[in-house]
Amino acid sequence: MDGSNTILISNTWRSAENGGVIDVIAPAQGTVLAQIAAGGESDIDLAVAAARKAFEEGEWSRLTAAERGRLLTRAGDLVQKHAEELAELEAADTGKPIRQARADIAAAVRYFEYYGGAADKFHGETLPFMNGYLVATERVPHGVTGHIIPWNYPAQMFPRSIGPALATGNAVVMKPAEEACLTTLKMAQLCVEAGFPEGSINIVTGYGHEAGAALSGHAGIDFVSFIGSSEVGVLIQQAAARNHIGCTLELGGKSPQIVFGDVDMNKALPFLVNAIVQHAGQTCSAGSRLLVERKHYDEIVGTVADRFSQVRAGTPEMDHDLGPVVSRKQQQRVLGFASAAEAAGVPVIAEGKIADGVPDGGFFVAPRLFGPVPRESSLANDEVFGPYLSVMPFEDEADAIALANGTPYGLVAGIWTENGSRAMRVGRKMRVGQVFVNCYGAGGGIELPFGGMKKSGHGREKGYEALYEFTAVRTMVVKHD
Ligand code: NAD
Repeated sequence: MDGSNTILISNTWRSAENGGVIDVIAPAQGTVLAQIAAGGESDIDLAVAAARKAFEEGEWSRLTAAERGRLLTRAGDLVQKHAEELAELEAADTGKPIRQARADIAAAVRYFEYYGGAADKFHGETLPFMNGYLVATERVPHGVTGHIIPWNYPAQMFPRSIGPALATGNAVVMKPAEEACLTTLKMAQLCVEAGFPEGSINIVTGYGHEAGAALSGHAGIDFVSFIGSSEVGVLIQQAAARNHIGCTLELGGKSPQIVFGDVDMNKALPFLVNAIVQHAGQTCSAGSRLLVERKHYDEIVGTVADRFSQVRAGTPEMDHDLGPVVSRKQQQRVLGFASAAEAAGVPVIAEGKIADGVPDGGFFVAPRLFGPVPRESSLANDEVFGPYLSVMPFEDEADAIALANGTPYGLVAGIWTENGSRAMRVGRKMRVGQVFVNCYGAGGGIELPFGGMKKSGHGREKGYEALYEFTAVRTMVVKHD
């Protein structure tokens, strides 16, 4: 791929109007992997116009729900057919272990399959009203939807974001992340091959402050779906408000795993560690706070520390527990948290290793277990987006709830106890969008509605719930004699 062919408008691949390109860097090597077009305002104008035409009068506007579903299903089949090639591309582009990249492609296939199957099963209702009336609600597409996604899971984010929008009949314009988006582009091409009509799917690569801002602020779009940082989420919502349109914001997190003394550590240990190690902690729903009942603190934290010190970071091909972080900038940001913690005297309980033989230019960070982390500190409250786990003791159930809910974020919580009543009591107090009891999905499960509260955003993606977000209700009131 080079910068001449990464913008998709009306099923034609093209360069940016201004000719600009962006280097895409392989995180494990620090070398240039590909180039993408640096799209801007005029490219977004063209993409939105193409989507508008597709939605209003193009072939796309005439398809039935079943036909839209069939296209999504066919695209999923093609993704499955190219699964290994896509997994290798995802691993090279994001730096994650190849095993994880394969799991991401499998999830991408499931998104296509799920929303393909849902397209003709999503409908309105009839409502009781006065005598002599028939009242029906329809779920109608917004029109042209804008989609902005991050770099951590581009292969999953593409069908997760546009799948429900297309299933319900919207025409889409996507701005993927400039750091990693190669599988997004490949999957968009597979969608073209599956038969998606001109203008139904448009992609504009480019920087966030250029292409992203142009898309989210465009007067020609009818809805914005954003996945990314809480800081940019505010800008997206402001832009949407100026255009009087709706938006969903899937933002960051500082998700707690609450471990009570009666935990079954054999079951819990892999989840407690993997929730922060997965993709080097660069997962919105990473379990980045480990809250442990004080009476059992030493024993539980000791077990986690033993496992943590065995964790290895390596290249995608080494297929260890984690890869590098996405960029030099991100590496420096994450290491900055470690320096600040060291300066503040926060102890390091355990540290994983960077494998021998990783390339010198790679953006590797050794995973660390910090604790006890002071409750007011940055490590306890801010999203690191790196492989750092902050351990904090709690006194009792009430303290655990207060501590878990005590950050500005509210995305996911994990609860570990063999006491079912306690799990329910605590779980139902969590100010988050997903609660896991004796498991931790890190956002997993295509079928499960996912999204945040507070600074983690609003609206729900994934599952059947996402279909509601991409439609509006139209009520038809018919009077008869
Ligand atoms: P980011 O907000 O900087 O970038 C995300 C996307 O927004 C990219 O495509 C970027 O180009 C674009 N963007 C940047 N500035 C923009 C602007 N001014 N206008 C419009 N678009 C703009 O986030 P990031 O650092 O790339 O991604 C990491 C963040 O994403 C983390 O906070 C993480 O928690 C969050 N995230 C959330 C979820 C979720 O589902 N809740 C999933 C993955 C990542």
